[in-house]
Order: sequence, then structure tokens, then C-alpha cells
Amino acid sequence: MNISEDLKKHNFHFKKKLGQNFINDDHLLNKIVAAAEVNGDDVVIEIGPGAATLTAALAKKAKQVIAVEIDQDLYPIIKERMADFANFELVCGDAMKVDFDELAAKYGAKKYKIVANLPYYITTPIVMRLLEEGFQAESIVIMVQKEVAERFSAKAGTKAYGAITVALNYYGEVSQAFNVPRSMFTPRPEVDSAVVCIKCRQERPLKADDEQLWRSLVKAAFSQRRKTLNNALKALNFPAEALKEALAEANIDPSRRGETLSVEEFVRLANILNRKKTLA
Ligand code: SAM
Repeated sequence: MNISEDLKKHNFHFKKKLGQNFINDDHLLNKIVAAAEVNGDDVVIEIGPGAATLTAALAKKAKQVIAVEIDQDLYPIIKERMADFANFELVCGDAMKVDFDELAAKYGAKKYKIVANLPYYITTPIVMRLLEEGFQAESIVIMVQKEVAERFSAKAGTKAYGAITVALNYYGEVSQAFNVPRSMFTPRPEVDSAVVCIKCRQERPLKADDEQLWRSLVKAAFSQRRKTLNNALKALNFPAEALKEALAEANIDPSRRGETLSVEEFVRLANILNRKKTLA
């Protein structure tokens, strides 16, 4: 594949601020489509199609592909590459603002798959928006910076384990599919990448009764990683005695650090705190 020729023909110039590093390898495109397990019944929403190479690979397998792209300069390139696909719609706009459920509903789909090679600076905001705002995506397959992929699927107690790990594993089942060297992109980025698969939980085995409180708890626990829970959770503004009781009831040693708590322990503690708050 020679995307450089296409881009040159349209006098396109890469925009660093939009994280534009395009995939230049056919084998990699097919690997991403396979990781997303796309089949003929699927509506797929692609975020950031770029020169539409992944888009075309997706459209060969899916029932319908909807691609959301922010950069107007890419629209003629996308339209040209996708001209022969009747199952394709280009949505011009910002993926941080679109209503994904509404886009899929146009094709009669209540569930859909998200696939994206995202600009690294919006990876976490986009993924958290998809999960926290209750969109009906059944899975999210995304290319992210390798270090970010490690953070997404880290084990409790490791350096890479953070608030984002806890949040993702609360909403979904995260797995790292494969690593991608920087040489697979044009222009070549300064970091290596990895493809991550998130299967969104339809039924959550662990459910925080008050998700706002649960989020504040996770945030406080990780805001100062060196602090023990006893100290870090002061930021929640619960009476010290109630906090102590809640930790004891949850069977969590207050001298532990937040980074050692599992998702299950965070949910258990949040629900006990919520009960105490409601009773107070
Ligand atoms: N999917 C293409 C590929 O794999 O070759 C391009 C990937 S490139 C890393 C990221 C793409 O996302 C670019 O086309 C960029 O213009 C687009 N983009 C950046 N911010 C966006 C946003 N907020 N909403 C939609 N698209 C965005």
C-alpha cells in the first residue's frame, strides 16, 4: 500500500496536533479487523479514519461502517477511497462530541463495535467517555501507545496500575492483543504501540451503588501514590471515624496504599461508604 501517493495527490499535510500517524501496512490492518472480530452483522464505528485504509478493511467485513473524522482536509481522500462501498458513512466532527448510540441507531443497531487507531492524547478521554457515559458499545478495539496499553491491563500492586486501570476493568474486560512497532506508520511516531481489546460488560458483576462516589474514591486513592489509604482518603471529606469503620468493614488494612486494591475492593469500600453517607 502506498498512502503517501494518495496523500500527495490531494496535497495533504500531516497535522501533528491531531495525532496523525497513518498505518502503512496491509497485514496490520487485517490483524486489527480480526482482533475486533468483525462480521457481516456488525455495525462498526471507527474513530479517526485518517486516509481510510482501516476503514476499507473494516467495510469489507462489516454490515455498516460509520467513521467519525475531525480533519476536513481528509474528507476528499476518505470519500475517494470509500467510493465503492455502499455500507459506509462519513461523519464529519469531533468524536468527543458525537452521540455514538444515535449514529448506530440509524442502521437499526442497539449494539455496535468501536475500532480506532486513536491520537494518543485523546485515548483516555475517548475511552472513558464511551464507558462512563453508558454508550452501548459492545467492544472497543484500539491502538494505543505501548505504555498506555500496559497501564490499561496492569495488575494491582504494579507500577503501571492506576486509576485508569481500575476504571477500565470495572466497565470492561481488558486484554492486550499485540504490539505494533513504530515502523508501521507514516509518519513514524516516536513511540511503539499496542492494540488493546475491551469487551464492555453488559452485566457488571461488581456494581458501585453511587458511581460518582466510587470515582472520587479511586481518584483519591491514586492521587498521592506514596500515601496510605488512611491519609489519601482524607480528601473524600468523610468523618475520620466513619472512614476507619468503613475500611474495617471492607476488610481493608488502612496502612495499605491505593495501588494495591483490586477493583472488587474499591467497589466494596465505595458501597460501604455510600451506605454510611446515606445513613448520616
Ligand atoms: N485510522 C487511521 C490509520 O490508522 O491510519 C488514522 C489514525 S491517526 C493516529 C488518528 C486520526 O484521528 C487522524 O485522522 C485525526 O485527524 C483523527 N482525529 C483526531 N482527533 C479527533 C477527534 N477528536 N475526533 C475525530 N477524529 C479525530
